[in-house]
Amino acid sequence: MHTPVTIVGAGLGGLMLARVLHVHGISATVYEAEPSPTARTQGGMLDIHEYNGQLALQAAGLFDEFRGIVLEGREATRVLAPDGTVLLDEPDDGTGGRPEVLRGELRQLLVDSLPDGTVRWGHKVGGVRALGEGRHEVTFADGTTAVTHLLVGADGAWSRVRPLLSGATPAYVGTSFVETYLLDSDTRHPAGAKAVGAGAMVAITPGRAIQAHRESAGTLHTYVALSKSQDWFAGIDFTDSVATTARIAQEFDGWAAELTTLITDGDTAPVLRPIHALPIGHRWDRVAGVTLLGDAAHLSRPNGEGANLAMFDGAELGKALAAHPDDVEAALAGYERALFPRSTEAATEAARDFELIFGDTAPHGLISLFTGHEQSR
Ligand SMILES: Cc1cc2nc3c(=O)[nH]c(=O)nc-3n(C[C@H](O)[C@H](O)[C@H](O)COP(=O)(O)OP(=O)(O)OC[C@H]3O[C@@H](n4cnc5c(N)ncnc54)[C@H](O)[C@@H]3O)c2cc1C
Repeated sequence: MHTPVTIVGAGLGGLMLARVLHVHGISATVYEAEPSPTARTQGGMLDIHEYNGQLALQAAGLFDEFRGIVLEGREATRVLAPDGTVLLDEPDDGTGGRPEVLRGELRQLLVDSLPDGTVRWGHKVGGVRALGEGRHEVTFADGTTAVTHLLVGADGAWSRVRPLLSGATPAYVGTSFVETYLLDSDTRHPAGAKAVGAGAMVAITPGRAIQAHRESAGTLHTYVALSKSQDWFAGIDFTDSVATTARIAQEFDGWAAELTTLITDGDTAPVLRPIHALPIGHRWDRVAGVTLLGDAAHLSRPNGEGANLAMFDGAELGKALAAHPDDVEAALAGYERALFPRSTEAATEAARDFELIFGDTAPHGLISLFTGHEQSR
């Protein structure tokens, strides 16, 4: 293929596309808003699934490197009641098929697998416009521009490329996460560390949850989930960490201290993450010279699939372009034909999982979800 590919966004999806193209000898440029790969903490553990994320890593020729960054023992899962009673405790027996990695390490692995200069850091895209005949002009925040025959929006939830294809915008789903970290937890926060155990812990009642994950070296990553309006969160001054954690903890009044400590004893400032989603079934008519992948195409409620799906999309698009070296439109049409039903099914499942986790049946819906996954995957 002679057309160099212009990718907006160096998340896991965009980087995976660039890597699979590189494996097939196709050059790409990835424009990324962040100034460097270490500019932002790429927090969070991701479990990488056999049926999508791992397939993408194989297509990228990076499976062995991926195995090298897997954190052993982190697939353990616990569900606790608000009083601290253990309702479910599944150890990591090494057979789960969902190995855990740190998002930042996986991203770095992909960056390192690309030729130098492939990712242009500090290139925030401000707008895009069609020039006709499949060509597009990308304008960066500093006023410079680039013209391309093949543009891929891998720029996440608030994609600047998406308006070329669709008028859809993400809507708030009614729940927000508040995120914090507890560092060196076994020594400094032993009660919280014990409650979380070796892997992931969730304590949940309808509309509220305390979730935490053990990352590397005793770091606990807490996501508190609260089903409240955005106006309610706007009433909290997130620049005042102490007042914020106290206000959030108030929502968990009466819960066991080893759980609320995961909020109140955070070592990093609490960060608000309102959860948004695109309409389920989001799709578009074919537009020459442009497509989307990952969250830009199908932002869904988080259920542990989004990063996996973004990488899978990136690999599928890369393979499609490599298979049609002289016909970009055939490649894009084939990619989208499979993308739309795949994304619709995933978004439907994510909405169902989210309702099971945070809806009226909590925590029993969540427990059946965990045990159901065990049986079916
Ligand atoms: C709280 C939470 C927890 C989650 N947990 C999991 C999990 O455990 N497992 C899982 O698989 N998924 C999880 N997800 C979902 C997952 O994070 C996303 O689905 C995934 O990151 C999507 O990848 P992406 O490459 O499409 O987009 P992103 O990861 O969002 O990457 C987009 C990139 O584009 C860049 N960008 C954005 N705008 C511009 C611009 N204008 N110009 C240039 N660059 C731009 C961004 O800086 C970013 O680097 C979670 C999501 C949330 C909110």
